[in-house]
Amino acid sequence: MTKRKPPVEKNTFYDVTFEDLTHDGAGVAKIEGFPIFVPNGLPDEKAKIKITKIQKSYGYGRLIELYEKSEYRVDAPCPIYKECGGCQLQHLSYEGQLVAKQKQVQEVLTRIGKLQNIKIHPVLGMENPWRYRNKAQVPVAEREGGLVAGFYQQRSHEIIDMEACLIQQEKNDLVVQTVKNICENYGIQAYDEKNNKGTLRHIMARYGLVSGEIMVVLITRTKELPHKNKIISDITAQLPGIKSIVQNINPKQTNVIFGNETNVLWGEEYIYDNIGDIRFAISARSFYQVNPEQTKVLYDKALEYAELTGEETVIDAYCGIGTISLFLAQKAKKVYGVEIVPEAIEDAKRNATLNNIDNAEFAVGKAEVVIPNWYKDGVEADVIVVDPPRKGCDEALLQTILKMKPKKVVYVSCNPATLARDLRILEDGGYETAEVQLVDMFPHTVHCEAVAKLVLKSRG
Ligand code: SAH
Repeated sequence: MTKRKPPVEKNTFYDVTFEDLTHDGAGVAKIEGFPIFVPNGLPDEKAKIKITKIQKSYGYGRLIELYEKSEYRVDAPCPIYKECGGCQLQHLSYEGQLVAKQKQVQEVLTRIGKLQNIKIHPVLGMENPWRYRNKAQVPVAEREGGLVAGFYQQRSHEIIDMEACLIQQEKNDLVVQTVKNICENYGIQAYDEKNNKGTLRHIMARYGLVSGEIMVVLITRTKELPHKNKIISDITAQLPGIKSIVQNINPKQTNVIFGNETNVLWGEEYIYDNIGDIRFAISARSFYQVNPEQTKVLYDKALEYAELTGEETVIDAYCGIGTISLFLAQKAKKVYGVEIVPEAIEDAKRNATLNNIDNAEFAVGKAEVVIPNWYKDGVEADVIVVDPPRKGCDEALLQTILKMKPKKVVYVSCNPATLARDLRILEDGGYETAEVQLVDMFPHTVHCEAVAKLVLKSRG
């Protein structure tokens, strides 16, 4: 292969048209086929850019002047949008975001998955795409003798104070502000990462959208929390709906949020919330979907694609705390969930009991090890649901699915690229991708969830 010299030069200006968005929300322009990533550029916009950095097969640029704006460009409503980096698409209208996500998945499934003519339904977005997150984890710092609580400035360790986060439940903003003020009143020192000193590292707030229950977690460097009882009584007095106050202790000099020790300071160990008819007990450390409203939309679709009649045996691979498994169990004969994190499986079992579901069984382990063992033991599945992390399904799991030949595979994915790769493997092994539904679980960010229905062509 001949090495091609990049067709652009650093610090030079070019007129371009953006064609696409990267997975982190930058505009993509091509100069003689050479991709340049430009923050803040939107598809179809014409602009003058300056090249800031050149790599072997792509480069970076800065937006200098917009000649033609996208019909979807809007002013980001959040005043700290640029500094925070938590959202990447607020300068694109919500309608524009859904169009862009759809286009991206379509493009990836065709390019990487070589899937032609598949039915990709328009993204199911939110009616009100703001204030959806049910969990806030906010770092705390010291500034001019007081406490600030907010977000790390992009690419830095500076914390920006934040009164409101527009994708956060309003209740969580209130909880964080209230707890910060109470701690400030009692002179609690913020954690100082550089010197590994001080006390309060993070404030976490969790809010049950359906139940209205609130959990506060104080993440501290030391076990000792000065004025603990006064802090507790002020929190309970000022936050109606509070059900649980928890302390997590993380003595390490690290940017990992949680430490290993968790103690209940007041109230319950869990708060409860519902997704559809299923009730979940959520502890400080439990994984729980951050957008429960859209989670229901996604899981209803997975359930619809599974087409259960009550007679089926279903495997839910990568089951987490059993969210999908428990949804499926209501309509299946038997559900087997498998997940690598032992604590998540404990939660899954507890949640099954909480909902009087006795036809779901859960196993700890790697899906690509546990499911082949089940296959060897003669377990047969009518439907296999997978919901893997971003890296997609392990090849060994896909090969086992091809041997087990369930009538249907329902693939829930948070990464279109690995979804495309895995759909190709399943298609080559005898499955057909019948349809794909996209669900916007994280408005204003670049993430997009997809659920695909695969049908076995023949049992041949
Ligand atoms: N279906 C769940 C969780 C999906 S997230 C829900 O909707 O809530 C993906 C899950 O896969 C995580 O819980 C992660 O711990 C788990 N995981 C990652 N690698 C795994 C593997 N090799 N085998 C089984 N589970 C795995």
